[in-house]
Amino acid sequence: MLLDPRTLLFSLILANSLMVLSLFVAASVKGREQGLNKWAIAVLLETLTWLLVAARGSVPDELSIVAANMFKAASHALILAAIYEFQRREFALWKFFVPVVLMLATTGMLIDDIAGRFIWCGLIYAFQVLLIAHALLSDTETRKGRAWRLLFGGVLMILLVLAMRAVAALSGLVDFAQPQNHVAIHWVQVISFIAVMATALLGSVGFVLMIKERTDREIMHLAMTDSLTGVPNRRALMDQGELVRAQRSGHPMSLLMIDIDHFKRINDIYGHPLGDEVLRQAAALMGQRLRAGDVLGRYGGEEFCVIAPDTDAEGALILAESLREILAATPLQTEAGAIAITISIGYTCCATTGAREMKDLLAEADVALYQAKQAGRNRVVRATACVV
Ligand code: GH3
Ligand code: MG
Ligand code: MG
Repeated sequence: MLLDPRTLLFSLILANSLMVLSLFVAASVKGREQGLNKWAIAVLLETLTWLLVAARGSVPDELSIVAANMFKAASHALILAAIYEFQRREFALWKFFVPVVLMLATTGMLIDDIAGRFIWCGLIYAFQVLLIAHALLSDTETRKGRAWRLLFGGVLMILLVLAMRAVAALSGLVDFAQPQNHVAIHWVQVISFIAVMATALLGSVGFVLMIKERTDREIMHLAMTDSLTGVPNRRALMDQGELVRAQRSGHPMSLLMIDIDHFKRINDIYGHPLGDEVLRQAAALMGQRLRAGDVLGRYGGEEFCVIAPDTDAEGALILAESLREILAATPLQTEAGAIAITISIGYTCCATTGAREMKDLLAEADVALYQAKQAGRNRVVRATACVV
């Protein structure tokens, strides 16, 4: 296959221009910016780089060599800035300016020395690319998704290309076709162009996907969280219960239904906002007592539910009693002073063989809870169906 350098450059410029357009459209969505504007400008600068490279011979070398490399270095710096903005981290300005200024000095000094440029400019680019790799690897939030791997793949590719060009320069292999010539292109150039094009595409798609992944995570979190108390909501509780049941580990699991006693009185005496505060504090207090695998959620109103995997009837009783005791013993500190509350709990348990459904478990625990209320409140009652 004959790959003409001009055609390759044209494809690179066309692909990058279309990418710039798409990125600016994506960045124009309000509240979705998250570094996309910087990324779009970075790709724009990169497009200018390739335009200047394509014009080599027709424009002064100061433009097609010095300015082109500066634009490329600024493009890398903006990519780093975009990643930092996405990660909501502070960005040290030297990381932006030092490589760009160094690039200006290096290309200015080595304007007639292509081998020297391959090595020294390559080192500056490698430094920038390593900063990008570090920014990606050092942020746990970024690494929660998968899209960052596309960017990281681009980083590795660029490092390989830079190393390849440096080796070519050191072996005196720089005497190959410049893009503006119609001489047969050298394979080092072909690989470089293809890698640069692939990186531009991988990087931009990867960055947009990173933003989408995080937005999805945030929406999922909102859909699964009770906005008042911050604990999982009923939907999340049901999902969690189904998850534990679906494991069919055969281990016991327990479900606790918890209801605050005479909560209506708190609302009546102190008002609804203070009732809300009591709910928040009660949820936090119960949450502190749970083991890592247990899930406390707000079932609705002033009712909470705990799903406790690997917990048999005996364990469930210990857990329920400790929750009951901790609330009874800890007056909640509110604007209206200390408020003492108690809770009643009904619990059930089953072997996670998949035989009993969540709705059955909830109904059993609810009956037990009703009995606890009937028996005088501030107590724990076991469901008759709880047999493990
Ligand atoms: P019991 O001991 O029998 O459980 O009595 P109770 O008063 O706690 O029970 P009841 O079900 O009669 O009242 C529950 C109250 O919880 C009524 C409702 O106004 C209140 N409530 C439900 N959701 C919220 C909420 O989000 N915030 C506040 N402040 N109150 C809520
Ligand atoms: Mg209730
Ligand atoms: Mg109640």
